Amino acid sequence: MKEEGGYLATGDKAQCFGCEACVQACSRGAIGMLADEEGFRYPVVDRAKCVGCGQCRRACPASRPPKRNPPPLAAFGGYALDGTIRGESTSGGFFSVLADAWCSGGGLVFGAVADGLAVRHCGAEHPGGIGRFRKSKYLQSEMGGCYREVRAALAGGKRVLFSGTPCQIAGLKTFLGGTGKPDLLAVEVVCEGVPSPLYIHGFAEWLGHRLGGTVRSIDYRFKDGRRWDFQVMKATLEKPDGTVFGWKQDRWFNPFWSIWLQHLISRPSCYQCPFATPERLADITLGDLWGVHLYCPELYGRNGGASIAFCNTGKGLEVLKAAGHALHGHFLPMEPALRYQGPMRRAIAGNPRREECMADLRTLPFGPFVRKWAEKPGPRLLFSKYVWGNRQKVWCWNRLRGKKKIAEERSGEAG
Ligand SMILES: Cc1cc2nc3c(=O)[nH]c(=O)nc-3n(C[C@H](O)[C@H](O)[C@H](O)COP(=O)(O)OP(=O)(O)OC[C@H]3O[C@@H](n4cnc5c(N)ncnc54)[C@H](O)[C@@H]3O)c2cc1C
Repeated sequence: MKEEGGYLATGDKAQCFGCEACVQACSRGAIGMLADEEGFRYPVVDRAKCVGCGQCRRACPASRPPKRNPPPLAAFGGYALDGTIRGESTSGGFFSVLADAWCSGGGLVFGAVADGLAVRHCGAEHPGGIGRFRKSKYLQSEMGGCYREVRAALAGGKRVLFSGTPCQIAGLKTFLGGTGKPDLLAVEVVCEGVPSPLYIHGFAEWLGHRLGGTVRSIDYRFKDGRRWDFQVMKATLEKPDGTVFGWKQDRWFNPFWSIWLQHLISRPSCYQCPFATPERLADITLGDLWGVHLYCPELYGRNGGASIAFCNTGKGLEVLKAAGHALHGHFLPMEPALRYQGPMRRAIAGNPRREECMADLRTLPFGPFVRKWAEKPGPRLLFSKYVWGNRQKVWCWNRLRGKKKIAEERSGEAG
């Protein structure tokens, strides 16, 4: 990634993260976002309104990358003690608990909400409106006027928590001028890249046609209490007579995960993401606690999910400590914590068949597309997921270590 340039100067799509900082920086309202043939949104300048002031270029994190933090000070693994929060969250519910800690005296929280199949960023007063931010929506969110709202809230002396993908944190920071803001807590998700919206639209159309309804919403990682429930996709559909019904599919049979995680349908910039390094921009980075069964099995969330939080700044660490009473967990050794989080170390690998796959996504009907590109789970994988796998291994491990030792650890950990 070049230090100077950016999509508006070069037209190179790999240099546009879709963060929309340029749109909001333009005081003339001369920039809008338009989806290309792959469904990814890019800025388009209305030349009649543009006065060439260069504000858009200055706000672009590809042309002016903001200053990074040093590598994380600490990594903390575990889950929220409140079962309702955990049930409504993607992994261990850290986001909600951290928002409570930062905004305990009031504040504004920004995050991504589902709007039908689309995803939008918005702000909400804490604590009332933050429930809608829970759950990962695996599409890039539309930023609306959020960066401007953050700036106005900070200028008005409010505490703000802004959450988003690493490139959205970069967009916000560049938009705000790159300097630290004491009243702003930036919380990012570890990000494996964002998939093309064309996939989800094709899937929704296909499913609706098959089941005789219209897909109204998708929960990408529904927790339905079953023992392999960690990654069930749930769609809510509506029949023409108004009846609402649900559809679910386990992660291992769901082509979305297979196709996306082969990196066949990600945004071009994700393959060169400059933010996928241990030196982060946000105060806190949140992810799933991958590898939990291998290096910290006592934190296995009984399939309710477990999170990892990387504290990248002193402020992030203080907030985590303030949230400790609402968490079960402990600090983790940094080496395995980073090892199991690929996107904390490097951008996703390019797939040489991406262009072919994207062309098929545009032209093939959804069924044949999925048959061609999704990998079917093999018997070994299914055995390990449904018969003898991580959950059972962790259960045995915990039995071996003894419940007493675990109870002792738990009482000393979360404080
Ligand atoms: C596109 C995407 C890719 C991800 N890839 C990985 C990965 O490779 N490895 C990993 O460990 N974790 C990944 N995550 C993060 C993970 O899914 C959880 O969000 C994280 O573990 C926090 O869970 P939680 O239970 O604490 O939070 P939750 O309560 O589930 O909170 C979700 C948080 O994510 C934000 N969010 C949700 N959807 C979006 C979106 N579309 N854009 C921006 N922000 C959003 C919300 O604003 C909120 O802050 C990804 C998330 C997204 C959105």
